[in-house]
This record gives sequence, C-alpha cells and structure tokens, in this order.
Amino acid sequence: MRYHIDTIPVWDAMRLDGECFLCALQRRTELAEADRYLGASVMEPDVRVRVNRLGFCRVHHAMFFAMSNRLGHALMLESHHQETADQTREVIARMKKAADAAAGAPLGKLSRSGAQAARDMAAAAEQLREMADSCVLCDSIRENMERYLHTVFHLYRTDSEFHRCLTSGKGVCLPHLADLMRVAPQELNARELAAFVDEMGRNQAQQAERIQEDISWFIRKFDHRFADQPWKNSKDAVPRTVNKLRGWCVGPEPNPKE
Ligand SMILES: [Zn+2]
Ligand SMILES: [Zn+2]
Repeated sequence: MRYHIDTIPVWDAMRLDGECFLCALQRRTELAEADRYLGASVMEPDVRVRVNRLGFCRVHHAMFFAMSNRLGHALMLESHHQETADQTREVIARMKKAADAAAGAPLGKLSRSGAQAARDMAAAAEQLREMADSCVLCDSIRENMERYLHTVFHLYRTDSEFHRCLTSGKGVCLPHLADLMRVAPQELNARELAAFVDEMGRNQAQQAERIQEDISWFIRKFDHRFADQPWKNSKDAVPRTVNKLRGWCVGPEPNPKE
C-alpha cells in the first residue's frame, strides 16, 4: 500500500480531539501550501506554469491579501494576470467569430446558424467561467486530502487505537463524513464496510445529539430564567455547530499555534 507513510500528521490531527480531525488536517495543509505558493521566488518552474494558468480562487486570494507578503502576491498576480488576459482575448475572438457567423439570423431554435452561434457562445462562456473558478491551492488541498483519506483507512484497519478514536471520538464534519463514506467502498471489503458504516453512523448520531444540546442550551441562556444557570459546553456552540455542518470556517484555528 503506497499511502501509509504519512500517518503522523493524521494521528496529530486526531489527538487534538476537535470537532473534525480532517478539518484540522485540511487547514494545516492549506496554510502550508499557501506559504509555498506565496514564496513566488522559490517556486519550481512547473508550479509557476500551473499558477500562471490557473491562479487562485477568491477565498485564497483573500487569504494571501491578509498575509503580509504583498510583493510575493504582486509577483504572482503579474504573470497570472498576463496569461489570463491573453486567454480571455482568444476566447473573445472565438465568441466574435461565432456571433459574426450568425449575424443577421435570429438567435434560437428556428435558425440553424443562430443555434450554432448560441452553442459556441455558451462553450466559450463556459471556458471563461472555468478560468474564473480555477485554483491551484484548492487543487493541491484536494490532492493532499485524498492521500490522507487513504491513510485514514489504513490506520482504521491496522491501528486499534486509531479505530477507537475515529469511531467513538467527537466525529467529523458533514463534508468530511461525505468524503469518508465516498472512499470507504474502495478501501474496505464488504464485511469491513458494513461495520464501518455502522460504527461511524452510530457515533455521528451521538455527536449530533451532543451538538444539538449545546446549541439549544446556548439559546436558552438568552432567556432570563436561565441567566444564573451555567453555560455548560455551550459558549462556543455557534462556531462548533457551523463547523460541524460545513467544515471548519469560523472560530479559533483548529490547530494550536506552532
Ligand atoms: Zn471536517
Ligand atoms: Zn482556492
């Protein structure tokens, strides 16, 4: 099995005992990759080519913008913007050709040249959309997380302590539950798969009850009749519930400062 080498970061994330160890792992990957990409001067040529072509999504540009390396960001933008402008010009030229070919004919089903132009326009617009949505950082997070998912199943099968933590700890967020369930049939045999779904399902249900109690208690605390009652575990119920539903995005960083 070629994925089991990287068990240490997976175990490190699990030991944090947060609401989702995969979110902690993903955030750690994201920060490390962001550092790598922003260090534009040390970029290997093939990475540089990919960055120039694909660029970054708005979440990751916002992240770069908030970091202090304004020059690194500018250097990356200069060449990515140049390449995007060139590509945009080519796409618009194709749109113009399609529109000119249909000029004079009404657009829509009745005119064959009009329908062809509409299809060509849609394909070219789709290409602009893809250019607007691409992100090298999102891609590399996805690739890293796929590898980690394989490692998770390797540990689940071979490390009884990890097995216990995964199936009776605090559980995972909904997006990462989806990832685990998607990969499970590729990693487990039929008997293991049935056990995995059962164990994960039972634990997720228990954890959902815990979160539900916390958010309900948080709300109750706003009622003056409960003002003197303790907060219990509900003080951070809002960020924890959001993060459980959508993956970590609010509240304190999932990893401790290094
Ligand atoms: Zn998660
Ligand atoms: Zn991104």
